Amino acid sequence: MTDDLAHELALLKELGYTHLDLSAPTQPTENSASTDDWTDLQRIATACTKCRLAKTRTQVVYGVGNPKADLMFIGEAPGRDEDLQGKPFVGRAGALLTDIIKAMKLTRDDVYIANVIKCRPPENRNPEPDELDACRPFIRRQIEMIEPKVIVTLGRFALQSLMEKGFSITAARGSWLDYNGVKVMPTYHPAYLLRNPAAKKEVWQDMKKVMTELGIEF
Ligand code: URA
Repeated sequence: MTDDLAHELALLKELGYTHLDLSAPTQPTENSASTDDWTDLQRIATACTKCRLAKTRTQVVYGVGNPKADLMFIGEAPGRDEDLQGKPFVGRAGALLTDIIKAMKLTRDDVYIANVIKCRPPENRNPEPDELDACRPFIRRQIEMIEPKVIVTLGRFALQSLMEKGFSITAARGSWLDYNGVKVMPTYHPAYLLRNPAAKKEVWQDMKKVMTELGIEF
């Protein structure tokens, strides 16, 4: 067994799994996660030392928002502001994400926001593959507990890590994907939009598809 697989199995065990169901996933019918499940997962994440990022983080950035949200945004990793405040998307890119959410006639409290990596990579470098692997069980379990109708992945790393496939963000954005029966809309990361404001038009097209799926008029 590889070290990565052993890590993931150990974490899944900590997360309460007693066996692995390798049959095709079925669409969940009701939101069954209890407050205890949430608290346990958050406690395990807060104490996690599964990868090197544990040594340099100030805080684990677990996720915020409605634990029963229909819509979940998944980003890459905390930056400096997020590491200090312990909340995802609170810096400049976060302000733009908040504007996008408002333009969708929602608030940050209506949705759930998390990252595929829970601890800040030093100097905001790209996450390493082994860090993404070590952290993946957390986002998977968050999705299982929230049971969103739609997931929006923000940028390349969120998309690739969630789907475990080397997608190109430019090619994949704007088209629906499926994650265990949940619709996934890949779009650009707000930090990319800060550098390339012209791409906001494409993100808005993607968000209109999400609004239609959720029955929100625009
Ligand atoms: N970028 C991300 O991907 N996530 C954050 O939480 C902040 C910036």
